[in-house]
Amino acid sequence: MSLIRFNAIKESNNRLVIAIEENGRRSDSFGTNVFNEKRMLQYLTKDALASVKNAISSGSKIDRKIADQVAEAMKGWAISMGATHYTHWFQPLTGATAEKHDAFFDLLSDGTALEKFGGGQLVQQEPDASSFPSGGIRNTFEARGYTAWDPTSPAFIYGTTLCIPTIFVSYTGEALDNKAPLLRALSAVDEAATAVARYFDKNVSKVNATLGWEQEYFLIDKSLAQARPDIVLTGRTLVGNSAAKGQQLDDHYFGVIPSRVLSFMSDLEQECTKLGIPVKTRHNEVAPNQFELAPVFEEANLAVDHNLLLMDVMDKVADKHSFKILFHEKPFAGINGSGKHNNWSLATDTGVNLLSPGSTPMKNLQFLTFFINTIKAVDRYEELLRSSIASASNDHRLGANEAPPAIFSVFVGSQLSRVLDELEGVSKGKLSPQEKTELKLNVVGKIPEILLDNTDRNRTSPFAFTGNKFEMRGVGAKTNSAKPMTILNTIVAKQLQEFKKEVDVLIDKKDLKKDEAIFNILREYIKTSKRIRFDGDGYSQDWENEAKKRKLSNNKNTPDALQVLISKESIALFKATKVMSEIEIGARYQVELDTYILNLQIEGRVYSELVYGYIIPSAIAYQNKLITNVSGLKDIYGAAHKNFSVGQLSMIEEIGEELTELKKMTDAMTNARKKANGLSDSKKKSKAYCNEVKPYFDKIRKHSDALEKLIDDQLWPLIKYRELLFIK
Ligand code: ADP
Ligand code: MG
Repeated sequence: MSLIRFNAIKESNNRLVIAIEENGRRSDSFGTNVFNEKRMLQYLTKDALASVKNAISSGSKIDRKIADQVAEAMKGWAISMGATHYTHWFQPLTGATAEKHDAFFDLLSDGTALEKFGGGQLVQQEPDASSFPSGGIRNTFEARGYTAWDPTSPAFIYGTTLCIPTIFVSYTGEALDNKAPLLRALSAVDEAATAVARYFDKNVSKVNATLGWEQEYFLIDKSLAQARPDIVLTGRTLVGNSAAKGQQLDDHYFGVIPSRVLSFMSDLEQECTKLGIPVKTRHNEVAPNQFELAPVFEEANLAVDHNLLLMDVMDKVADKHSFKILFHEKPFAGINGSGKHNNWSLATDTGVNLLSPGSTPMKNLQFLTFFINTIKAVDRYEELLRSSIASASNDHRLGANEAPPAIFSVFVGSQLSRVLDELEGVSKGKLSPQEKTELKLNVVGKIPEILLDNTDRNRTSPFAFTGNKFEMRGVGAKTNSAKPMTILNTIVAKQLQEFKKEVDVLIDKKDLKKDEAIFNILREYIKTSKRIRFDGDGYSQDWENEAKKRKLSNNKNTPDALQVLISKESIALFKATKVMSEIEIGARYQVELDTYILNLQIEGRVYSELVYGYIIPSAIAYQNKLITNVSGLKDIYGAAHKNFSVGQLSMIEEIGEELTELKKMTDAMTNARKKANGLSDSKKKSKAYCNEVKPYFDKIRKHSDALEKLIDDQLWPLIKYRELLFIK
């Protein structure tokens, strides 16, 4: 065994489990590191508290004097908790989070030291933003960008740093991050959904989008991960022969959690609890070493922040437990990849989940209104929704016969399908009293009962209704949920705006009663959005053919999926909802394409390094061993040696053939890469990487994996799947 591999395995085998006590009630320590309402009550004056609360609920501005008070209070609390630094915590378009720490410590001109943090520092900062991707926005406008406080997401202490969630915008106001557009989308959906919810209840004055994500991930022993250049540099294994045992026995899903992992999880949960991340469930996933963590759902902006923070905390806690955590969507070939289901709904400030059927026909009509409008929105903008989860790493799932397909469709289940069919049959215009009664009692009124035993679930659907929420399943494990949440809330906002307009026209011009008007429009929507509904097997070839007939998009790779972002219709949508300007969309399109190219470029380089630095040398070493053996046999037995070395000779040849092909493919890939690099147009370049470079990756892998099977285990230089994938 190569020395690197030997040492890494030895180190991993000698790991001790860190004993963690699962002590006491988690509710006692929930949010102790968060400047939440409880802390605010304790630390803020009445005026300041009212002002912050107002900013949270209605987005009103906080004036400078109040900001100074809030900053002073936050500082006092943070220092009492042992914090020494503060940072504006933001989400640049890289998809991760960024922070730049400043000490509270400061010197006055006379040399006196003090701890300083004022309203100015709380509200706005100017990080040196020139190294963050901006998709050209900064070149066109101003080189600088600034971060601005988002009071809707509470500040928290992480380690010894007070983190203040912020948006990141250019000096001319263009969003340079993922949070600013999300906040605008949430505000758009709030406005549109509130207006519609008020048809049913005049007390509603705000609607929040809610998000409950389910985070999947892999855990790998740290020293084993570090011994693989591909995992270190790309987050996935670029080569690797499948272990004899994978997930075929289904023995990992919901199985007993290994003690080393349980210790990590428990430590993680304690950290999350302090940070106010309401994690609730933990379990083994389908693939070996794959796990999932899910929280209680929250308001979408907060949920997104919590997911990003969680990913960071997970990374750190994993390190403490000598694990490397992988969020890549497809770290290993042959076993499941990782996703991040986004469960989504809308909730009113009167405590009603708008996607949950209620106890009266009117409440159910409200449910149907939001339910059908969501379906209609997804139907109209299915391609845009698909684009929001496109990335080089997620391409391994979507469009590669794994997890949901790249085709968007909505699963509603057989019972609700029947309800929609019945509604579709309702006559147009005014309804007779009998029709109304029949509709209310027998169709709408029965929804809660039928949903109670709605057990038919469809795991292959990318957008499934699951009783009281929709579950968007194609989101990648690594993806910042702000992206899909921005698009989903934007399209629903737009749809609800139009719905309201259409209903009002029927009420005003056609003299229909409110519920009649609503029925009429919903009926039309059911008719016109039928193609998006699909309850069958989303993985099947039949569905792919059928979807094509229905003119649903099927963009299997990122360069294709991204094109719709800059279509006229998308630009109009973002403008109408005030979510993004044309410049901001163009910038995102550019950043996403560039990120795609860079990721494939890195993978291509690592392939070359693996092939020339690791795989070919070990293949030659083993071939030489065989050659020495054969020539030794020849020395002893002369020409008769062939009788004793048929096996060796054929192996020498087989290794030679695989090696030749491996080298050929690697060189061809490098040439294709050079050619692609010569293109200056990002769209062409991304397509070249996708269609000319990437296909070689699988071919290289095939020959490398064949060599792994042929070569002496003692000589193979890369940690094998069997060694990586079964934590004890
Ligand atoms: P599963 O989908 O795995 O069967 P559940 O249905 O229990 O699991 O819920 C999955 C996720 O859905 C959880 O993270 C939960 O917080 C979230 N969820 C539940 N209700 C809502 C809601 N109204 N809005 C958003 N997310 C929700
Ligand atoms: Mg789920």
